Amino acid sequence: MKDGESKYAYKKKSAWELFSKAQITSAFAFAEGYKTFLNEAKTEREAVHKIIDAAKKEKKKIVVNREKSAAIILPGKKPVRDGLRIVISHIDSPRLDLKQVPLYQDSESHLALFETHYYGGIKKFQWVVIPLALHGVIVKKDGKKITFSLGEDEKDPVFSVPDLLPHLSHDVQDNKKIDEAIKGESLDIVIGSVPAKGDFKEKIKAAILEKLHTDYNITEEDFISAELEAVPAFMARDVGFDRSLIGAYGQDDRICAYAALHAILDVKNPEYTVLSFFVDKEEIGSEGNASAQASTFLRSLIKELDPRVDVDSVLLKSKVISADVQSAVTPNYTDVFELKNASSLGNGVVMSKYTGHGGKYSANDASAEYVAEIRALLDKAKIPWQTGELGKVDKGGGGTVAKYFSRLGMEVIDLGAPVLSMHSPYEVTSKVDLYSSYLAYLTFLKS
Ligand code: MN
Ligand code: MN
Repeated sequence: MKDGESKYAYKKKSAWELFSKAQITSAFAFAEGYKTFLNEAKTEREAVHKIIDAAKKEKKKIVVNREKSAAIILPGKKPVRDGLRIVISHIDSPRLDLKQVPLYQDSESHLALFETHYYGGIKKFQWVVIPLALHGVIVKKDGKKITFSLGEDEKDPVFSVPDLLPHLSHDVQDNKKIDEAIKGESLDIVIGSVPAKGDFKEKIKAAILEKLHTDYNITEEDFISAELEAVPAFMARDVGFDRSLIGAYGQDDRICAYAALHAILDVKNPEYTVLSFFVDKEEIGSEGNASAQASTFLRSLIKELDPRVDVDSVLLKSKVISADVQSAVTPNYTDVFELKNASSLGNGVVMSKYTGHGGKYSANDASAEYVAEIRALLDKAKIPWQTGELGKVDKGGGGTVAKYFSRLGMEVIDLGAPVLSMHSPYEVTSKVDLYSSYLAYLTFLKS
């Protein structure tokens, strides 16, 4: 009672204080592997490949859906009909996608550019004047797939969206609202400037086409059957004098994906059949055949595990952690948070009973019973955790994949790391929250 607080009061505790010295050392070591993962898996397809590699190395069963989603499975002591324990994370992140016919020459500025259509919820002004790398696949008409990654090696060229100098932006940008200052159609990427020799109408475009054909054997039409993503070319780095934080692109939701991957790789002899499920397209509403809404993948997986079971009854008995990030209280903008219920960096994995917006609309609202169960589980294992809610009531909001699984009849709760500057090209997380998330998923899978 030295701080004048009743012993019955709820108090948020720092993970830095709760963890032992040895655990903090483990958290820092865990973060090293995580940074490598972030650097090598900047797209959903690359994340799937890293997950496959890790599963194969540990001789774990993995099922892959279209190079965009995957599930690692470990049978439990109890039969499949008793239900599963599932951790679901998403491996897509906001970025700039190339359009179908992206290449053009801007003859006024004497540059060649790629047209983009942004993917997910971005603040457009954050994506100009930063180095971008291009990742993805180009599929030729004969089905041959060209895997593309340029801008990650320091000897590689990078790409960039230009912005107007301050001397001239007064009328065009400075007096506009911040979300109108940069338009979606202004997020085109500069890709070259040398004109071709010869009698071409657009010489710079002709030179780029020539180069693309020489280097990658592709033509302009091949972009129509491509998925190319411009992502920040930054490497993951430690942030702060104390190196306590990690700055990198794509931590929503690869921080939870990495923690969930290592949790399932490390779990031994679980009670129930356990599954770590990685999905795509969360950032655009979980639509499509590799997303959280494509429940056929999970259904066929259960049927494959035990053909005799009634899949619906297995789903009803299953328990799920929706492993997605939560907003961290942001310095200088604390007004948008209701601080008693907001999560902050360094206080452990965040348990969000509900998501949604304005009147809990569109939320998965976990039952008090399930919240109690998870709370008890985390406390018993001495894992730092905190509650979280995305901002003040009616200030905004957001969703996760939780609702798509709870509607299948499963118990679902959101549990993931807090993130600063979420959806920006440089998101910041805490090493102890990453480690708390890993321990939380591991404990849940074992339970
Ligand atoms: Mn997310
Ligand atoms: Mn997100």
